[in-house]
Amino acid sequence: MFDNLTEKFDSVFKKLRGQGRLTEDNIQEALREVRLVLLEADVNFKVVKDFVAAVRERAVGQDVLKSLTPAQQVIKIVREELGRLMGEGTDNSLDLAARPPVPIMLCGLQGAGKTTTCGKLALSLRKQKRNPLLVPADIYRPAAIDQLKTVGRQLGIEVYDTQPGQDPVAICEAARRYAELNGFDTLILDTAGRLHIDEALMGELGRIKASLAPREILLVADAMTGQDAVNVAESFDAQLQLTGVVLTKLDGDARGGAALSIRAVTGKPIKLVGLGEKMDALEVFHPDRMAQRILGMGDVLSLIEKAEAAIDKDQAAKLEQRLRKEGFTLETFRDQLQSIKKMGSLESILKLIPGAGKAMKQMKGMQLPDKEMKKIEAIINSMTPQERRDHKMLNGSRRLRVAKGSGTTVQDVNQLLKRFTEAQKMMKKMQQLGPKGLKGLMGR
Ligand code: GDP
Repeated sequence: MFDNLTEKFDSVFKKLRGQGRLTEDNIQEALREVRLVLLEADVNFKVVKDFVAAVRERAVGQDVLKSLTPAQQVIKIVREELGRLMGEGTDNSLDLAARPPVPIMLCGLQGAGKTTTCGKLALSLRKQKRNPLLVPADIYRPAAIDQLKTVGRQLGIEVYDTQPGQDPVAICEAARRYAELNGFDTLILDTAGRLHIDEALMGELGRIKASLAPREILLVADAMTGQDAVNVAESFDAQLQLTGVVLTKLDGDARGGAALSIRAVTGKPIKLVGLGEKMDALEVFHPDRMAQRILGMGDVLSLIEKAEAAIDKDQAAKLEQRLRKEGFTLETFRDQLQSIKKMGSLESILKLIPGAGKAMKQMKGMQLPDKEMKKIEAIINSMTPQERRDHKMLNGSRRLRVAKGSGTTVQDVNQLLKRFTEAQKMMKKMQQLGPKGLKGLMGR
């Protein structure tokens, strides 16, 4: 996501940091470059102009120049203004505080990812202990109804039994009654999509809105389409008064223009973002965190949330008990690796760590961390339980057997054991330090 943008910002800032002393001219030059970077990223022209003006106004003051770290100050201002551009400081959460069943209406052009997003949203709401009912209201494409039914089946979430040929408003009203009778607290309305905006579609969506009075009217827009997504958002908003936008396919959008422009152009917040085709690839949009990610500063808060969501509390407690009882052995190490893996690919995790994205680029030629991890697991799996608990018994012939069993080489096995012994020593030291010492080590 936004890799190009991150790289280009990085080179602008590197130049800025490289100057011994900053002058107004240096800053003006950097801002000219920032302007180009944003235009190349397909950010709306007027948005770029206002953005650069806002940064300039704050950056060209004497305070910045006189500060001990002027380049840092400029970067900080860019970060803050990027966050503001994307809506930092406003509440982006879905408003579901109403008498159930609360209707949420999703609209958008065909192919934007509406049906997929309906499924993702239903899953996310269920994780928040709500009980959603999916409602297919696109009667023009029978395949759309089937698609939502398939998604619902896959997630174990009920889909209202729409029949092709019914009137969309009548479907939504009947679904609401069905929800009331059957204890569903949220209605997710998957409305019709077209290839282009047309009056008939807008009229239909307007009638659904008038009849159901949805708490949220979300436009699902494809980030890959850049400024087109922004134009679509403007048109839908003019007709329906959107409450927010779901920006999909951000995982594939290398440029970032839509994410950076939509809020400023339409005044409507991006509430959620789609980051993949899988059903759990939906995230709440945090403008400040996104600004940090764009500037290559990582996103530690999202990392912590991911970890919390992935870690099964019972399992973690069990692992901790075992660590205490058995110590840090190859076996407990392997189990730790497995719980890390649940958080997603190592590469995607590393990108959330400040500076790690850049470091990864510099490691070109090195094996991908995920591959490396699989290798480590294969080696450990080829050992006997005794060997895993006491790696010191792994002599030459045992190492050869493990290498053969795991499809690796004796060097690989040696390297793993060496690294493991180092980690074990480090763990011992940390344990001796206790929790207080650990905090000290981490600089807190
Ligand atoms: P609809 O016509 O708006 O209902 O669009 P669909 O939900 O059928 O999605 C169109 C295509 O986009 C499908 O192939 C989806 O898997 C894909 N898609 C949807 N959301 C995302 C996303 O966030 N990332 C990626 N990479 N693909 C997505």
